[in-house]
Amino acid sequence: AVKPLHGERWHMFNIENVTLSQRRIAIASALKEAIECDQLSLFFQPQIYLNTGKVHGAEALLRWEHPQLGNVPPDLFIPIAESSGIISDLTEWVITQALQYQKKMIVLLPEHIVSINISAKDLLRKDLPVLFITLLNEHQLNPANVMLELTESATLFEGVDIKNALNDYRLIGVKIAIDDFGTGYSSLAYLSKMGFDEIKIDKQFVMNIEYSKNDQTICRATCDIAKSLGSYVVAEGIEDSQSMAKLQSYGCEVGQGYFFSRPLPFEDYMQWLEENLETTTVFVNDLEKVV
Ligand code: C2E
Ligand code: MG
Ligand code: MG
Ligand code: MG
Repeated sequence: AVKPLHGERWHMFNIENVTLSQRRIAIASALKEAIECDQLSLFFQPQIYLNTGKVHGAEALLRWEHPQLGNVPPDLFIPIAESSGIISDLTEWVITQALQYQKKMIVLLPEHIVSINISAKDLLRKDLPVLFITLLNEHQLNPANVMLELTESATLFEGVDIKNALNDYRLIGVKIAIDDFGTGYSSLAYLSKMGFDEIKIDKQFVMNIEYSKNDQTICRATCDIAKSLGSYVVAEGIEDSQSMAKLQSYGCEVGQGYFFSRPLPFEDYMQWLEENLETTTVFVNDLEKVV
């Protein structure tokens, strides 16, 4: 479903009068110019070890600021980029930027892990592993500190190719996460077969964890399964200390969410990182209330 954008700006496209497919075409063609016209940026959202409060790393999240449309949310433009083929260029741009930034982030925190979102379609490309090797060498980065976040989607299940593609990345040494776990197509058999390094619980199960017994059950079970399979768990969408405490009690290793920080522009993230290097300030402040 296409979410409405911020208010009046849509009138630039006279959006009420166009069909959904016209809207998608308009966005796709605007997106083609986005890279050249410098309209894209990467934001970073911290990920925190829930047992110590130390920084695990950050997820790189793409932002698109269009001169007329304003901020277009990735949930809207990524699916359009995927279906129009523009995703290849976007992904290359994201990887190149993210690894450049990672080089600066490890100066502050050598064990900093940068997480990059990859489309299932990207995995079918043979040239992407080469791009990784080139960039990792160029910046002298440890591949083990690079995490690829794969969202479960139908494409992931269309062929066995994906498992092969993942092998290319495993040989390079980068880590693989399954993103938005529990919302898509994954079966438990799939989890066991693919051997993901990290499992990310989708925010839909985390945001109401305080009140929903079902969500508590799902989060606890996911943590148990992950542990048995040798993966570790990241919970996204942690917005308060109570949710953090619940996940911590289930053995969830890493947390991400507005409670710690919203996604930040690179310079702001660097400053946040510097201020939270020893242990995340918000974590320490709230720990007393929780325990
Ligand atoms: P995702 O990979 O699951 O990323 C997490 C999303 O949850 C981000 O939304 C983040 O801003 C949001 N989030 C994190 N903590 C909280 C919280 O506490 N509360 C709430 N309400 N939201 C929280 P964002 O940045 O809008 O990205 C949406 C999706 O777009 C991502 O979901 C990912 O699937 C896709 N995406 C973003 N950047 C890229 C990219 O560079 N490449 C690809 N292929 N997809 C991307
Ligand atoms: Mg992600
Ligand atoms: Mg996610
Ligand atoms: Mg998600």
